[in-house]
Amino acid sequence: MTITNTASDLAPSGIEAPLVSLAGVEKAYRSGKVAFEALKGIDLDITAGEMVAIVGPSGSGKTTLVNLIAGIDRPTTGTVTVNGSRLDLMDEEDLAVWRRANIGMVFQFFQLMPTLSALDNALLPMELARLGSRRRRRDDAQGLLSAVGLGDRGRRLPAELSGGEQQRVALARAMACQPRIIIGDEPTGNLDTETAGSMFALLRELNVSGTTVIYVTHDLGLAALAPRLVTVRDGHIVSDAAGDSQTSTTAPKLTTEGALPDAEG
Ligand code: ADP
Ligand code: MG
Repeated sequence: MTITNTASDLAPSGIEAPLVSLAGVEKAYRSGKVAFEALKGIDLDITAGEMVAIVGPSGSGKTTLVNLIAGIDRPTTGTVTVNGSRLDLMDEEDLAVWRRANIGMVFQFFQLMPTLSALDNALLPMELARLGSRRRRRDDAQGLLSAVGLGDRGRRLPAELSGGEQQRVALARAMACQPRIIIGDEPTGNLDTETAGSMFALLRELNVSGTTVIYVTHDLGLAALAPRLVTVRDGHIVSDAAGDSQTSTTAPKLTTEGALPDAEG
């Protein structure tokens, strides 16, 4: 992995401020006269460097929750503070700029640009952010593809890649601007078990190298591997606990590029 975070989160007092802080958050969706309360009072702090799995039944509010942390959406009431910015006070335009600099997202259905090669997909966020020189950006994108085990697949279109490979391209794209936070909304939801395992290993590796990782999953096995497990039900957090790996004496085995299975997604 090429991504490291060296920024310190120590406040002058020496007390670590949470990287993500939601306080009294409610989110209502309105369609016509009917309002539906998707989140009904969320308080959640996540410290820099954490890896947090979010689980819960379908419709419980998981996507709504991570979209608020990502600045894709804003709460109806309450405060959302991420990396020092009050997202609930920002307008759409500011949120888009903020998101590019702070968040990498991975989705269940990859959401790659179908007409762009794998390399160009990974390159896109750096192009939009105009990071460094053109040459540098291409080299960085190539490095990201190599980091996810796809160094030799850069010229392929998404349709020419397996599901697992497409999701790894999506992860390379998410890493492009060296975000402090990677958010996955069911990033393994469309992958077979083995491919899901190697995607999880990549997320864990990123986390170990300093990136905060938050991911929604239906896979209770993968959820239990997270050091922290947050359960959402009916718009509330009903449990927030250490995952199994926290009590395990052996660290999860990290997959290196050469060892990544070339599984079909
Ligand atoms: P999950 O990701 O846990 O399946 P979501 O956060 O997507 O749940 O949705 C929570 C609830 O909010 C669901 O009942 C869903 O139907 C509703 N919801 C989500 N997005 C919208 C929307 N844009 N408009 C209206 N209702 C929505
Ligand atoms: Mg969802």
